[in-house]
Amino acid sequence: MPLEKAKRIIGGFLSITKKMPGHSYNLSARKCIIGSKLRSVENSVCAKCYAFRGHYQYPVVKNAMARRLRAIRHPQWVPAMATMINWWCRDIPYFRWHDSGDLQSVQHFKDINDIARLTPIVCHWIPTRELQIYRVYRRYYVVAPNVCVRISEPMIREGTLQGTNFRKQAITSGVAPRRSKEAWKKLVRTNTNEVFHCPASLQDGECKACRACWQREVKHVIYPQK
Ligand code: SF4
Repeated sequence: MPLEKAKRIIGGFLSITKKMPGHSYNLSARKCIIGSKLRSVENSVCAKCYAFRGHYQYPVVKNAMARRLRAIRHPQWVPAMATMINWWCRDIPYFRWHDSGDLQSVQHFKDINDIARLTPIVCHWIPTRELQIYRVYRRYYVVAPNVCVRISEPMIREGTLQGTNFRKQAITSGVAPRRSKEAWKKLVRTNTNEVFHCPASLQDGECKACRACWQREVKHVIYPQK
């Protein structure tokens, strides 16, 4: 499919963020199914969602997100997204889904897995709070081998630091309460594949060489509260 046609179908270009090594993609956080309920829950990870502030509020950004949301129902959305990702991720094959927004349905998650299969050299990181969508999908289908799904713990809590409560619930990421840079540095030094503390806040807010979120062998990734 020509790139121009793919861009028209998906509703624009992929995004670039300062933090991430490669490209990403977003939908409106207002359309998050679980997230919109969590927004009114104090101390939840969605209560102070960054996607309700800053440039996400510009009309041009809102319109682009609305176009992308409509596009996921387009009959050629899967090949169009695969065309864009194969082209834009050819040098840095790490793609992050939903730097804002979340899965909309089992069909949406199935389509994303189909896109991953059509982009086999690219690693896909899918953070989500939609545990139920993930579970229903897993009942019938297999997650593509180049996809790392990070199911997020809904609340910011101390237990998140050690991965407490994660194992039984299939949760693979969470946010720990705010602490000093020095305290977080100490935790980062303890990183293992079992519990991995995000080092981005210690390295100019960027991933730099870290790819933990894309690696399935890293069981739990913990981010510090901002
Ligand atoms: S854990 Fe690593 S890959 Fe994930 S956001 Fe932090 S720095 Fe980036």
